[in-house]
Amino acid sequence: MKCVICKVGEVTKSPVKVEVKVGYDYLLTTVEAESCVECGEAYYSTETLRQLDQLRAEFARKEIAPRSVGTVYQIP
Ligand SMILES: [Zn+2]
Repeated sequence: MKCVICKVGEVTKSPVKVEVKVGYDYLLTTVEAESCVECGEAYYSTETLRQLDQLRAEFARKEIAPRSVGTVYQIP
């Protein structure tokens, strides 16, 4: 499949790092997706999007407590 964004790259199955925003927190995870070798545009299946929604909900309800890898700072 050709990428619909850049129209030159080939879209191939590969693990993609995603950030799921939950309030002020970001949940980093890697999912199996299809991504463009040229521009890096990622295409997610409905199944994967459902998994990410599930993950977001579980994290918001504190059912999962992943290891923290960084802190977000803010200067007013
Ligand atoms: Zn592309």
